[in-house]
Amino acid sequence: MEGTKQTPHIVILPAPGMGHLIPLVEFAKQFIHHYDFSITFTIPTGGSQTKAQKEVLDSLPKSIDTIFLSPINLDDLSKDTNVETRFYLTISRSLSSLREAFKVLTATAPIAALVVDLFGSDAFDVAKEFNVPSYIFLPSPAILLSLYLHLPKLDEMHSCEYRDIHESVKFPGCVPLHGRDFMDSVQDRQSKLYTWTLYHSKRFRLADGILLNSFTDMEESAIKALKESGDSSVPPIYPVGPFIQNGSRDGVDISGCIKWLNNQPVGSVLFVSFGSGGALSWEQLNELALGLELSKQRFLWVVKSPNTTYLGAQTTEEEDPLMFLPDGFLERTKGRGLVVHSWAPQIQVLSHASTGGFLTHCGWNSTLESVVHGVPLIAWPLFAEQKMNAVMLVEDLKVALRPKVKKGIVKRIEISKVVKCLMEGDEGKRARKRMRTLKDAASKVLSKEGSSGKSLSEVARKWKSHAWL
Ligand code: UDP
Repeated sequence: MEGTKQTPHIVILPAPGMGHLIPLVEFAKQFIHHYDFSITFTIPTGGSQTKAQKEVLDSLPKSIDTIFLSPINLDDLSKDTNVETRFYLTISRSLSSLREAFKVLTATAPIAALVVDLFGSDAFDVAKEFNVPSYIFLPSPAILLSLYLHLPKLDEMHSCEYRDIHESVKFPGCVPLHGRDFMDSVQDRQSKLYTWTLYHSKRFRLADGILLNSFTDMEESAIKALKESGDSSVPPIYPVGPFIQNGSRDGVDISGCIKWLNNQPVGSVLFVSFGSGGALSWEQLNELALGLELSKQRFLWVVKSPNTTYLGAQTTEEEDPLMFLPDGFLERTKGRGLVVHSWAPQIQVLSHASTGGFLTHCGWNSTLESVVHGVPLIAWPLFAEQKMNAVMLVEDLKVALRPKVKKGIVKRIEISKVVKCLMEGDEGKRARKRMRTLKDAASKVLSKEGSSGKSLSEVARKWKSHAWL
């Protein structure tokens, strides 16, 4: 096993799901590329590996090892138990197996650090038993970390739901946020999920450090306020991003997106996609189709079957999501629009010269990918912390436009207006210019002299010194 060689050794524990594995894998690859470490991924599982997970883990470089923790059982949970609670429980039920892995690993070489993501703070206890420092790698913006760190105080201060607080809440250095824009997991204070989130938010302070997949040029004042909070119970914060996938897994152009983009004018196409799982209602899907048609702009749209819950997109082989589009839509927009089924090679699309805008659900990976490729946005948040991201992108960074929602629906006229404004209007031009500035900053920030590169060196130094204690 590679971990046995005499380089400092890091153990990474991702929560289940590709959305957690991918940023940690990208971080791990970058980290070993710049520093002489070996890394072991300990993978919690509820059963067999998914194809996507296998592909990612099989492609890891040699100095990254993988251990599958013993499968845990979640059969006692009701069917409607939300995904976040499942993540928290998967980690807490994997601890004995993680302890066994630590025993095996420490028998051959000391472990310099344990790295978990935002669902993994229960694993700190195992690391402590082995005198190993614990770090969180947060695949999220600083504004979300601010909310986590302030949540215990907010919980004490308010008895109502956060969305019922009249005034906006201003975390130090962050754009003011209304409670209704807080992440979903704190929107129902009577729920078990809220209790879990509050419990873990308190445990964030037990970490030896928090690595943030963001960077100073993007969230300068929020990061500064976190780093200089003067609160000794806040762990050191290391903004180390942006880590994004490089698109090498996208492979051949099965959907034909790239071939189609090759034939479109530079900067003319709006890419429309709601992430890996985001879904719209049938009514909203129709309004979006008719709004895109009305805008007369070129578009590349990844269509998923409609669902009443935002996170309900299912990719079944049998169901063709295109059958939910309005009658005649495909014929009327032929040539100007391309509609693809469920998945597109997003990195290749965003880095293509023909792509001039991105209508996105504001997932953090999608957000960072647009920043790295300099593509301005239409912010259409659906779930999780996406509304917070949208507020930051629209009101603080001003790299996104946001359509107005009326009675839960964005109407076709509004969609058409915002699309035209992003692709042709003055506001779109200004957003594009600001996005280019951010893109330039993102391209430098991970170099040795860049702020994220320096943070990463500092983390590496700390981990090395612990390994040789
Ligand atoms: N993605 C992709 N093609 C798609 C949809 C998503 O390659 O059609 C990738 C995208 O590039 C990003 C990730 O899936 O890396 C989505 O992550 P994000 O945090 O934006 O949203 P989530 O899927 O977690 O809601």
